[in-house]
Amino acid sequence: MNIDGKQAAADLRVKLTKEVESLKAERGITPGLTVVLVGDDPASQVYVRNKVKQTREVGMISDEIRLDEDTTEEALLATLAKLNNDENVHGILVQLPLPKHINEEKIIATIKPEKDVDGFHAMNSGRLLNGEKGALVPCTPQGCVILAKRHLGDDLSGKHAVIIGRSNIVGKPVSILFLQENCTVTIAHSRTQNLPSMCRQADILVAAVGRPEMVKADWVKPGATVIDVGINRIERDGKNKLVGDVDFDDVSAVAGGITPVPGGVGPMTIACLLKNTIEAAKIYG
Ligand code: NAD
Repeated sequence: MNIDGKQAAADLRVKLTKEVESLKAERGITPGLTVVLVGDDPASQVYVRNKVKQTREVGMISDEIRLDEDTTEEALLATLAKLNNDENVHGILVQLPLPKHINEEKIIATIKPEKDVDGFHAMNSGRLLNGEKGALVPCTPQGCVILAKRHLGDDLSGKHAVIIGRSNIVGKPVSILFLQENCTVTIAHSRTQNLPSMCRQADILVAAVGRPEMVKADWVKPGATVIDVGINRIERDGKNKLVGDVDFDDVSAVAGGITPVPGGVGPMTIACLLKNTIEAAKIYG
């Protein structure tokens, strides 16, 4: 069974639109998200366009700052300092990757944690790890949990979640989120031995690797829930195609539920970015 990320994202946006309306009515706050894009990477431009469009659709204020590829680190830091002090901006997102001459870690550390809607600042990852309130949690991992619950219901307690990938953006935070849902969590990665047999133990299998169609049917326990985070561009039959880290046709035959690529985790990532901005406006606005 397909777990429809597009529909889940649309449902979440309906909820968020109502939250924006009540924030405006009750507290006079309109949540504002500013996206900063440095350079002209075509994939980043598409992401930014979608983010801006969807932010406006739920009634929030959306702003976009485009800077040239050769913008200095100093100039970007100055832009962030202004946004940090602008009370109409509740969320700041610097689209990654940045040009090589700019230090990404320094940029992430400069965004005020209360406006860090990507959830990458050390303050937010620390709060997430400690289970503290007020953490802004990375968007893609939040989307993974929402999609798993859409298929399995809200109680994930006792399920074995196997996460393939240990990046700061996806693997690590999604592991913490499933742990908070009382799952038993295994984190697998490039040095894991016997990966297929490890994956076969999963009730929930999350693939966040960046290797096209790596997960095959015989890696999956019959009936398991499979969440595919990977986005890989490949060429097949002379055409460009987007595929996940899971061999969709193969695994669909054994999985109880599976997210497609595209149309699975991707749409949830943007919806959760809007959710985080509203959260930031509610708590800190
Ligand atoms: P990353 O390169 O930072 O991390 C990849 C992880 O996979 C590493 O932790 C590594 O240990 C592990 N890995 C690599 N080769 C492996 C192997 N052979 N076996 C087991 N593990 C292996 O990547 P990332 O930023 O975490 O992104 C992962 C994928 O998710 C990419 O395809 C990326 O495009 C995609 N992504 C999608 C979204 C979305 O919105 N859907 C968001 C972020 C990332």
